[in-house]
Amino acid sequence: MTEHILAQRYLFSVEAIVFSLLSLWLWLFYRGYGRQYVKFWTFSLIALACSYTSLALQDNAIIWSSTPFSQLILLTLEQLSKYSYLFLLLGGVHSAVSNISFSNKRVLSFVFFASLLSLLTLMAFLLADISLFNRFYIHVSLQNFIFGCCFLFLSFYLLTTKKKHFSNITLMIFALIIGLRYLLYSFASILFMGEESFADATYFLTFFDAGSNTVLAFIMLIWMQSSERYTAINAVRRAQYLGKHDSLTGVLNREQALEKLETEMPKALQTDQRLCICLIDMKRFKFVNDTYGLKTGDYILGEIANRLTDSVLMPKVVGRLSGDSFLFVIETPNQQQLDNSLEHIHQLIARPYEYNAQNIIISCSIGYCFYPKHADLAEDLLQKANLALHHAENNHLASVLFIDGMHTQGRKLILVEQEIKQAFTNNELILHFQPQLNLITNRLEGVEALVRWQHPEKGLLAPDQFLPDIESLGLNNKLDNYVLDKACQAIAHWHEKYKRRVTIAINMSAMEFQNPKLINNIQSLLFKYNIPPKYIDLEITENVVMTDINTAMDTIIILQNMGIKVSIDDFGTGYSSLAYLRALPIDKIKIDRSFITEVTINDSDLTIVKSMIELSHGLGKRVLAEGVENADQLNLLRNIGCDAVQGYFISRPLDESSIAKFLKRK
Ligand code: C2E
Ligand code: CA
Ligand code: CA
Repeated sequence: MTEHILAQRYLFSVEAIVFSLLSLWLWLFYRGYGRQYVKFWTFSLIALACSYTSLALQDNAIIWSSTPFSQLILLTLEQLSKYSYLFLLLGGVHSAVSNISFSNKRVLSFVFFASLLSLLTLMAFLLADISLFNRFYIHVSLQNFIFGCCFLFLSFYLLTTKKKHFSNITLMIFALIIGLRYLLYSFASILFMGEESFADATYFLTFFDAGSNTVLAFIMLIWMQSSERYTAINAVRRAQYLGKHDSLTGVLNREQALEKLETEMPKALQTDQRLCICLIDMKRFKFVNDTYGLKTGDYILGEIANRLTDSVLMPKVVGRLSGDSFLFVIETPNQQQLDNSLEHIHQLIARPYEYNAQNIIISCSIGYCFYPKHADLAEDLLQKANLALHHAENNHLASVLFIDGMHTQGRKLILVEQEIKQAFTNNELILHFQPQLNLITNRLEGVEALVRWQHPEKGLLAPDQFLPDIESLGLNNKLDNYVLDKACQAIAHWHEKYKRRVTIAINMSAMEFQNPKLINNIQSLLFKYNIPPKYIDLEITENVVMTDINTAMDTIIILQNMGIKVSIDDFGTGYSSLAYLRALPIDKIKIDRSFITEVTINDSDLTIVKSMIELSHGLGKRVLAEGVENADQLNLLRNIGCDAVQGYFISRPLDESSIAKFLKRK
């Protein structure tokens, strides 16, 4: 018997060392990957090492004799660490399988539960009048019963999980065997406690447990390795997917869509099929973005991608080429079917989009061409479909087939792009300045910078002749930054020449106002030209502000804190009300020209203008009226309390030299 005890002690000591080392290994693993389940398992192995340590130090006969205090401590430690090992193991598996992170509170409740169970054992030993058999039941039978149930439960839990890997199944089988071992032993301990064969079985199980625990530790290691590999493979797959697909909508991006089209072309030739290459562009999508916000816009694009992909037309290719334009390729044997298909696409897009309890409706234009009729290369097909699309958009047609004459139009657009880019580099874009008159002081309030294009051939062009092109080429930001720079140059120049500072109002486009670099940009310009911020007045149109009121608010607050002024341009033409603007820390509201034109002869316009002024003043904002063309309008506006005016009656927009004279005069 003493030999047995010695052998057991050696075994327990070896196990304590083995599990300490394994837990150290797991800890290193945890440091590397930071997964919570690895942390759980690390501590569960530490607990196991603790329980073996206390077993190695324990006197085996303590159950049957009166127990010295040191042994009691060891016993409690053993129980506590065993239960902790069990709960941490289970918690770790749950966290690994379900990807859930436990809160500290949950972990504490595990510890509490383990402590409670070990205290129960301690009580059995402390209360002398409890019979020795009760000690045995609580120390051995109950513990084995709990372990048995928990392992069987674990096995069942793993059986019901969806993800089944090798390590998953191994652990499931392992838990089943171990669960049965504990449960059977628990029953056997009650039935055959005193018998010789039971003592032999117990001795055998000590070795069995040591072995199985080691196996368990290795299952954990295998689990971690394969789980991390799985995660890594997933990450690589996702990266590959995103490389090929548009990350917003999940459909192919431009490059991939073209590639896919190229692979579909020879197939169509072989089967004698005709491919219809459709370019679908959403009408006024910018308006959706401006009105409902970018998030809604993103949602709608994703939804459009889904609808196109799942369409009954069984497209060969679906891809997003840019912002709101999609490539959609189908097989179309005859004209009747083609007409039906195009109609179907329009209906698909026109079905309302529901987002945040809003029903949004959009429509699209389609330009299309055929393979092999119109071109042999994917790139050329796309270009032709694009020309047809431009034709559809310009002429407000739903669907347009490419025809040869469209070439020249397309070339015009490419030419315009080159011209505009040259205009920027050659400084052909110049600023004119229109004075604004302060009606309270009767002095100059500031000037508004208005862009013109000094075209080398066509002469001086007004903004409406080239701004739409700039916008459709996506060059708004470039223009705004260009104008900002030129305006700051002008302020600095006037200050140097006439020793006076003039406030410049600068028009900002919607996009620029959402550009996070705007603030830095302005700051560096102010620094570069040494301009106090209060001489800059940014004009943003009402719709820009309402697009995304939160972003607008943040930007305006930062600008205001910098000392820059912000005005709302074209007020009254949008769909917001003054109540919305109350929250915005803006300085000035510019009443749109359309209200002023007939203000002296049209009663309802007068009423509107009056109430705009009253409301604005009530909110502490100043009011400027645009488009004042005669003395009657000016006097009337002065009488109803308007703060400032701007218009041909005061002065037309003036070029640099004329405004210089104007400034000298005033
Ligand atoms: P806006 O900001 O409302 O500018 C006022 C427009 O009204 C100017 O036209 C100006 O010449 C015109 N105007 C001023 N007083 C009178 C008047 O008494 N009667 C009439 N009938 N018109 C008057 P412009 O210069 O053709 O500019 C048109 C629009 O182009 C501007 O409208 C603005 O939205 C845009 N724009 C002009 N310059 C820039 C710029 O530098 N950047 C940006 N993003 N937009 C600009
Ligand atoms: Ca303006
Ligand atoms: Ca305006």
